[in-house]
Amino acid sequence: MTKPPWLHFENVWLPYAQMKTAPLPLPVVSARGARLRLADGRELIDGIASWWTMCHGYGHPHIVAAVEKELRELPHVMFGGLAHEPGYRLAARLAALLPGDLRHVFFTESGSVAVEVAMKMAVQFWLNQGERRTKFVSFRNAYHGDTFLAMSVCDPEEGMHRMFRGVVAEQFVAELPESTEKARELDRLLEVHRREIAAVIVEPLVQGAGGMRFHSLEVCAELRRLCERHDLLLIFDEIFTGFGRTGSLFACEQAGVVPDVICLSKALTGGTVPLAATVASEKVYAAFLSDDPEAALMHGPTFMAYPLGCAAANASLDLFESEPRIAQAQAIEAQLREELACCAHMPGVREVRVKGAIGVVQMERVVDALGLRAKFVEKGCWIKPFGDVVYLTPPLVISASDLSALTRAICETLRKPLD
Ligand SMILES: *Cc1c(COP(=O)(O)O)cnc(C)c1O
Repeated sequence: MTKPPWLHFENVWLPYAQMKTAPLPLPVVSARGARLRLADGRELIDGIASWWTMCHGYGHPHIVAAVEKELRELPHVMFGGLAHEPGYRLAARLAALLPGDLRHVFFTESGSVAVEVAMKMAVQFWLNQGERRTKFVSFRNAYHGDTFLAMSVCDPEEGMHRMFRGVVAEQFVAELPESTEKARELDRLLEVHRREIAAVIVEPLVQGAGGMRFHSLEVCAELRRLCERHDLLLIFDEIFTGFGRTGSLFACEQAGVVPDVICLSKALTGGTVPLAATVASEKVYAAFLSDDPEAALMHGPTFMAYPLGCAAANASLDLFESEPRIAQAQAIEAQLREELACCAHMPGVREVRVKGAIGVVQMERVVDALGLRAKFVEKGCWIKPFGDVVYLTPPLVISASDLSALTRAICETLRKPLD
């Protein structure tokens, strides 16, 4: 492929990449629906939805129109002391969609920062009541972001931040309560350390970047029970699972569990503009109401409630109302189950698992991610394995035939590994 003149590594530093050996990325010039168009005219079907963001596909006209209109009217205005309708309306809509009394919305611009804010809220929730609790409980294989506090609740051994052990804050890392015995262990940990612990943080139903691992609804319910028993806050990080990915609008709905704080980002704007939200329950919010100005939540990003992002998110929520997105996620689940089943008994494959619009081929060992990726590209597919998983999280609007092309590419490639 002839390389466009701008594509070189003189100035750009890529995410999670060893720049000495990284191959040049594929130049993308445009995208529509579930397809990326490359500079040389080839098209790739996107099996990843740009890191799980692009739920309505690329270039959905309703979102494009909303962002264009906002860009002309009010692309940005500070949220401190000034107000704009898209932000206030989005907060009200999120509050109406979220379960229970999760209705106090704090906007930021990225998932990691939404997690930072949730953790800060939890610590200050206790400080405002005269208690100093600085620790968090998180779980093996968790991933909550790349900033320092978020890194501290990622899996400290298997996670991608393991080299920062001893540098980031030490937290309690537990096993998910997936059995009675593990639940008892967690119960004991919480019993012993409850006075130090501000909150328990978890990705409900699916741990994403830590290996696309699923757990049951019962695990979420057990975490809620344990937090009640020990009077701890429960934070749900739904940055990956939110907005239809697991087959319901939010994973916590399926579990019938209401956390004290929930973090949203990724698909919040349909993948078009960076935006995130940390949403607190009445109980958490109430702990910040005081005649003492010091009790206020001390946070406020420059681009807080970025109007273009809020306009995009409002348009995205319109689409969840007007188009059958959740039904599409459920149809993707059925198709992934059927079409990935062929991989289950291949050599090197441990299992195939599917939840909502997430299909995972769990390999026995770490894969040659770059080698596999290149094979998929030859077949016209953008699929990005990591660690020991090959997975699909397509845009929820993907056609059945494009989804079949993705699953076929996986089955054919894994059947004949790198030759
Ligand atoms: C992606 C992700 C984050 C971090 O979001 P960024 O926008 O990349 O900072 C946090 N938690 C979960 C569960 C995620 O999937």
